Amino acid sequence: MTHQPAISALSATDPEIAGLVEGEARRQHDKIRLIASENYVSQAVLEATGTVLTNKYSEGYAGKRYYEGQQFIDQVENLAIERAKSLFGVEHANVQPYSGSPANLAAYLAFAKPGDPILGMALPDGGHLTHGWSVSATGKWFTSVRYGVRKDTGRLDLDQVRDLALQHRPKVIFAGGTAIPRTIDFPAFAEIAREVDAVLVADIAHIAGLVAGGAHPSPVGHAQVITTTTHKTLRGPRGAMILSDAEHAKAVDKAVFPGLQGGPHNHTTAAIAVALAEAAKPAFREYAHDIVANAKALAEALTERGFDLVSGGTDNHLLLVDLTGKGIGGKPAAQALDRAGIELNYNTVPFDPRKPFDPSGIRLGTPSITTRGLRPEHQPRIAEWIDRTITAAAAEDEQAIERIAAEIRELLAAFPMPGYAA
Ligand SMILES: *Cc1c(COP(=O)(O)O)cnc(C)c1O
Repeated sequence: MTHQPAISALSATDPEIAGLVEGEARRQHDKIRLIASENYVSQAVLEATGTVLTNKYSEGYAGKRYYEGQQFIDQVENLAIERAKSLFGVEHANVQPYSGSPANLAAYLAFAKPGDPILGMALPDGGHLTHGWSVSATGKWFTSVRYGVRKDTGRLDLDQVRDLALQHRPKVIFAGGTAIPRTIDFPAFAEIAREVDAVLVADIAHIAGLVAGGAHPSPVGHAQVITTTTHKTLRGPRGAMILSDAEHAKAVDKAVFPGLQGGPHNHTTAAIAVALAEAAKPAFREYAHDIVANAKALAEALTERGFDLVSGGTDNHLLLVDLTGKGIGGKPAAQALDRAGIELNYNTVPFDPRKPFDPSGIRLGTPSITTRGLRPEHQPRIAEWIDRTITAAAAEDEQAIERIAAEIRELLAAFPMPGYAA
């Protein structure tokens, strides 16, 4: 048994599930995890998610609940709220959204009506499904208009954002995404939103930890509403928050409950509070800057090996690589890399001629390996492993891939993982 905290009761009651949990812990330990939206939470966060707080119903907000017995839950939620407000410097925080997608739905519910025009980044250009993409409820229930990146720079096209905003007069504008390797210019978005009287929602799901740690400019003071997950660079449990100014606070709260959700997940709220306390420590500022330093070092090492990075590099925690020049699709590359012990996801690149299920690119991020303790000096080695794996995949050399996996396990053995005792 290696999972921490120990899962002895689980092992006795349900050895099948316990075995799978142990297997997953080991897998997370043995791999270079480069999925840009993932992380390793601390053992304190893990412990908070596994508490009896999961037993309690608390529909409503502190002091105004629909169930009795909130003597402790109210304090937990208030702590999470106060810590969020203090960490990000906002007037209001709602910590109840179940995850990032429901948080975004709540933002629409608060500030738009079905059929209203909304403006967000197109999925293939780096936006999120919930920013109005066609297959999402947000694309079906609203008149969704999408902006993208420029073909020549791979960077967000703010002229296009402004033109589309003036033409369609959206009620809500979303800034942010899931595959944007560059800094987001929140003041420029705010100016456009003001011009058309739209509510600007900054979705900082990916970069919340960087914002908290001062490694990415904050949208506070520019976006009236900020949505974020808590489990990506922020390194908390799976959950979400909506931050806002005082003016939009009531609409946000009403949209989350009773608009969209029932009882909040109190064990998650507690773990969010713990993660926010961790993120307020000086070490977290260092962590946020280390994430970016690692990403820049990895970008440089990959570029030296002839990899084509969308936008030419990165300002944040993630890299988008167009593999067209390497003669391999994103999906077979990602699958071979997984076998080699490097976990990432295949991804469309802007103007991708291939299909979304078999696109040209891969997305890489450094939040997890930074938590693990890897440094810029390790990045050339990771780039070398990626390069060798792709060459081996093209040559169908599975033995070479197995050798790489062994080398990676050897390196990672020196870097402990919270939640796992080797
Ligand atoms: C991850 C993400 C979400 C959705 O979060 P879930 O918790 O997966 O629902 C929303 N917006 C952005 C920009 C994201 O990156």
